Amino acid sequence: MLPIVGDMADDMAEESAEGRVPGFVIGDIEVFPVVEWAGPYVPLDTLVPDLPPQAWRQDEDQLVPDHLQGGRAVVALQTWVLRGGGRTVLVDTGVGNGRERPGNQLFHQRQGDFLERLERAGVRPEDVDLVVNTHIHGDHVGWNTHEVGGGWVPTFPDARYLIPGADDRHFGPEGGYAGGARPDDRLMYEDSIAPVHRSGQAVLWDGTHRIDDHLLLEAAPGHTPGSSVLRLRSRGERAVFVGDLLHSPVQIPHPECGSRFCLDPRQAELSRERVLERAADERELVIPAHFGGSGAVRVAKKDGAFVFRNA
Ligand SMILES: [Zn+2]
Repeated sequence: MLPIVGDMADDMAEESAEGRVPGFVIGDIEVFPVVEWAGPYVPLDTLVPDLPPQAWRQDEDQLVPDHLQGGRAVVALQTWVLRGGGRTVLVDTGVGNGRERPGNQLFHQRQGDFLERLERAGVRPEDVDLVVNTHIHGDHVGWNTHEVGGGWVPTFPDARYLIPGADDRHFGPEGGYAGGARPDDRLMYEDSIAPVHRSGQAVLWDGTHRIDDHLLLEAAPGHTPGSSVLRLRSRGERAVFVGDLLHSPVQIPHPECGSRFCLDPRQAELSRERVLERAADERELVIPAHFGGSGAVRVAKKDGAFVFRNA
């Protein structure tokens, strides 16, 4: 999740340029992002508070300008599209339009042209077979739904929506809408998740969930109780969509450093180390939810530490 912090909101109200990102081909599967908003966000040490001062300098050549500009972390709100084998899959669905989000000025009553951008990328709502929410936060479930006649209905009429069960319990009525700490959580659940349940399109899963020969969902909790990663394999090539396990590449050499938005930082750290370890071993392309630039990095292990380069 990416709540707005302090007085940064004014700088961010401006709409970002479209900037088509070319994407990747993993075996038989085409993978590319459709960006809802992207730009310099909060200061890096606000986003990743425990980062040792100046730690970013060791990777400055990889970080500036794709991930870091003027001391601020560059982030993207985006959906990853996977197309191939007769199927179209969306991973995470951004913020959405017209949302009541009093706790977040960037998300509140946002109006953008995301669906037009998706169509320009060749994806019509009725083409989408599957929506994967890596977790339930307001910047990952927004376009699950859109407003029709004053109510919220699923944007993708023929899709199944895979939603982590642990997050559904935590952020839904069963968990008192995340304990009732933030009004935004209840509003988000009611406008972006509940309509998908009502239409019968929601599929809750826990642990691991095999989608098909290419795609496997796995729990990677910590950022939220139900946070997950989606592993893609095709013709021996591999990628892993890691959601908010990483918010900036600076966390790769410092996997102990969580973002300020992790609900259980220690558990998030363990999940991050495990997923990075395997990505390095198995040469998975690592695709987090919010990275700028191409949106993806390659990870390796050198002298006992993780290193990365932009993909
Ligand atoms: Zn997020």
